[in-house]
Amino acid sequence: MIASVIVDVPAKQTDRSFDYKIPESLNDVIKPGMRVVVPFGPRKIQGFVVSIKPQSDFKKLKEIIEPMDLYPVLTDELLELGDWLTDKTLAYKISAFQVMLPAALKAKYEKKLRIMPSVTPESLAAPLQAIFKNNDTYSWDEASNQGLLSILQKEANRGKIEVVYEVKERIKKKTIKYLLPKVTKEELINLMNEMPANASKQKEVLNFFIDHPKQIESRELLSVLGISSATVKSLVKKNILLEKSLEVYRDPYEDRKFDTTKPLPLSEDQEKAIRPILTTIEEKLQKVFLLYGVTGSGKTEIYLQSIQQVIEKGREAIVLVPEISLTPQMVKRFKGRFGNKVAVLHSGLSLGEKYDEWRKIQRKEVSVVVGARSAIFAPFENLGIIIIDEEHETSYKQEDNPRYHARDVAVQRSIFHRCPVVLGSATPSLESFARAKKGVYELLTLPKRMNNHALPSVQIIDMREELREGNRSMFSRSLLEGIKARLEKKEQIVLFLNKRGHSSFVMCRDCGYVINCPNCDISLTYHRANQQMKCHYCGYESFVPKQCPECSSEHIRYFGTGTQKVEEELGKILPEARVIRMDVDTTSRKGSHERLLDDFQAGKADILLGTQMIAKGLDFPNITLVGVLSADTMLHLPDFRSSEKTFQLLTQVSGRAGRHELEGEVIIQTYTPEHYSIELAGEQNFDRFFDREMMMRKLHHYPPFYYITLITISHENVMKVVSVTENIAKYVGTRVSKDAIILGPVASPIPRINNRYRYQCLIKYKREPDLSRILKSLLDHYQQEMASSGLQISIDLNPYILM
Ligand code: ADP
Ligand code: ZN
Ligand code: ZN
Repeated sequence: MIASVIVDVPAKQTDRSFDYKIPESLNDVIKPGMRVVVPFGPRKIQGFVVSIKPQSDFKKLKEIIEPMDLYPVLTDELLELGDWLTDKTLAYKISAFQVMLPAALKAKYEKKLRIMPSVTPESLAAPLQAIFKNNDTYSWDEASNQGLLSILQKEANRGKIEVVYEVKERIKKKTIKYLLPKVTKEELINLMNEMPANASKQKEVLNFFIDHPKQIESRELLSVLGISSATVKSLVKKNILLEKSLEVYRDPYEDRKFDTTKPLPLSEDQEKAIRPILTTIEEKLQKVFLLYGVTGSGKTEIYLQSIQQVIEKGREAIVLVPEISLTPQMVKRFKGRFGNKVAVLHSGLSLGEKYDEWRKIQRKEVSVVVGARSAIFAPFENLGIIIIDEEHETSYKQEDNPRYHARDVAVQRSIFHRCPVVLGSATPSLESFARAKKGVYELLTLPKRMNNHALPSVQIIDMREELREGNRSMFSRSLLEGIKARLEKKEQIVLFLNKRGHSSFVMCRDCGYVINCPNCDISLTYHRANQQMKCHYCGYESFVPKQCPECSSEHIRYFGTGTQKVEEELGKILPEARVIRMDVDTTSRKGSHERLLDDFQAGKADILLGTQMIAKGLDFPNITLVGVLSADTMLHLPDFRSSEKTFQLLTQVSGRAGRHELEGEVIIQTYTPEHYSIELAGEQNFDRFFDREMMMRKLHHYPPFYYITLITISHENVMKVVSVTENIAKYVGTRVSKDAIILGPVASPIPRINNRYRYQCLIKYKREPDLSRILKSLLDHYQQEMASSGLQISIDLNPYILM
């Protein structure tokens, strides 16, 4: 037999299948969808078997060396989906297949065969008994050398043997450091009184343990008290505190109990919305629904009950959630309803954990997967529903090759499986809402919050006015009063800021010079933790100069307000407020996100201060005030979606307040209160926003009226970039129809990254059935140059980032 194989060489010449002979001994082992090792020129490389056939048009065929899997890792459907993906994104086939697999299958892992824990060695086929008598694993390479793969595969199919991947370098056990007092409370009090006045930080720590005599995670203590690890270390040295390390578990959800929940009796609106979904499941039809419901309107309950129906039919469900909303709270709602039938896939898991979850899907041990973007490729074979929550989120678009949008993949898979896709959002993307209005999607609406809780009242504060009246602080008077009132009533506050780091940029106050990255045309970001400036594009770091490089002035200042700076400011004006800060810096460690939220929920802080990541999913009854410190930060990005993103974000953040009995209030601070996306977010009026924004899009020929494709060209030599971009614009321009609009060549909004100059060309069009082919031939034309001279051309059909 002959196997057609897509080999792991991402290049134009190899972007097709190659035929290999299947050796006699592997005839019943090799299946489509398996990975194999094949000879390729002088090398041995990996490839995917896409089909098996009795003969080939080629004469001299090489043989497959060995399989890499015992079962196919890609189903027939996913193999087919790979072709579609290649076509839609111009990616190579090999990249399309690889993106569907968990990373553990790509990394340098040692492959082993393991006997399942419940199986006794005696029950295995004879040649295997001795092997597994004293060991529960066996090296794959050894098995292959001994010619045992076929027999092992049979045992694997009977559920007795499995394939496991072990990282080659032994992973260290993960530990977390805890601190606890070594002495009694009385001694702590004495020690504190004896300490000299200048040891105020140490005193603070002792004081803390006098009130909380239990162990606490070191990092948490540092962040709660705002102290350095040196302070703690000296107390450990003095034998006052004990530091101990505890191991953390591999399964992030293992140690957690989930209270089981039962389906709730649906409200009238929910009943109306779910009926068409259930009918579609019942009748095995393909259909896309847009479930448009304000925050707190009960969308999740609709997801849960639809999935229930799917499971009862013996089918499976994929639920996509944006990475940042994939919080334990969210997971709990699914695990609470469906228990261990749920697998969870998100980037917080280690490679090994992700692979474990993926295997549960492959082995049909679960029927629901809840995950971020890539979970759309879950290898279920009997899908009954695909749900995309917060469908407007741009993180559903992958920004590297293959540049797919999970929504498109979902629709494609639903056609194969004949099942519904449910897109849910309180602020649907313009594209989806327009499709729903045209009847391409079926619109389902939940107009009210559950239990008729009112949407919070929103107040928009003009910060220019504040300034005119002499308030130079980052808090308007209304916001400050609002915070004080909540502190008194012991209610909680969420403060939202759309930037990270201490301050966004460093500027000379005398001449206005802004310190830029020497490699990229973008300003450096100041980080207070190490007092350095950093480039977020190339990683360049440097200290803040004492003098302005332009005018030698010493008046260098940090501009913009980052979360750290807000925290500092709060400490000055409201020293009694307890603040939890949540941003990229405080949540980079695994589990820290969750811990901070748990603390906030437990009432250990009054104010939750954070970036984007707090905009979603939070559902705490005690939050009654949400403050947006500066609504404008996103509005002025060079992106035609900036108004849409601003509106969505403000609406999402506002949705955090008053979700339960207590009434909520939202205060939005802005320098452009007259901008429609801020004004209409204040009114929480999506429909008017939609009409307004559609007008703008139509006027400027943007989606959903036009499709767009972005071509970005980069090279170290600026002349080279310009001339290639000019040629590309000409090439495309003479081949598309007269209705297409080509913008460019122009310099990209960030004209240089890491010393490479960047130019771009934007194509707007209504219908260009030939465009994919034209662009592909364009890439082919430059292939040689891209390989040899460092020229880069990236093509994004339907870009979400225009920089
Ligand atoms: P959304 O997903 O639209 O933001 P949720 O599903 O989180 O809204 O619902 C908001 C709140 O209403 C949740 O606390 C949820 O448990 C509750 N809820 C939803 N549906 C019902 C129902 N049919 N009966 C009672 N409570 C419900
Ligand atoms: Zn200067
Ligand atoms: Zn840089």
